[in-house]
Amino acid sequence: MADERGSDELFPTVCDMCGKALLLDENVRYILRAEVFAAYDVLELTREDLEKATRREIEELIDRMGDMDEQELADSVYKKFVFNLCPRCQRRYIEDPLGVKRHGKAGED
Ligand SMILES: [Zn+2]
Repeated sequence: MADERGSDELFPTVCDMCGKALLLDENVRYILRAEVFAAYDVLELTREDLEKATRREIEELIDRMGDMDEQELADSVYKKFVFNLCPRCQRRYIEDPLGVKRHGKAGED
């Protein structure tokens, strides 16, 4: 899995999805950038909501955060991926970017 790879992105050697050599086997390559970040709907959070959050809930949240290491904590807020794809994998990706067709919806087995 590629993870914010700087120089590799400019001179990729293989497709991150299928492992095929890029630019040797294919004339075209694709770059897939994906960002996942926490969407805080600040305007929807009222003072009332904050007051409803009991001390116990807040302590539980802090507890949970304490169990995460720094990287996990950062990833839970913002995560960026960069992948190189061959044309075939680019088509596969855009048809099913979340893998729902291949794997079903999350939570279904
Ligand atoms: Zn590929």
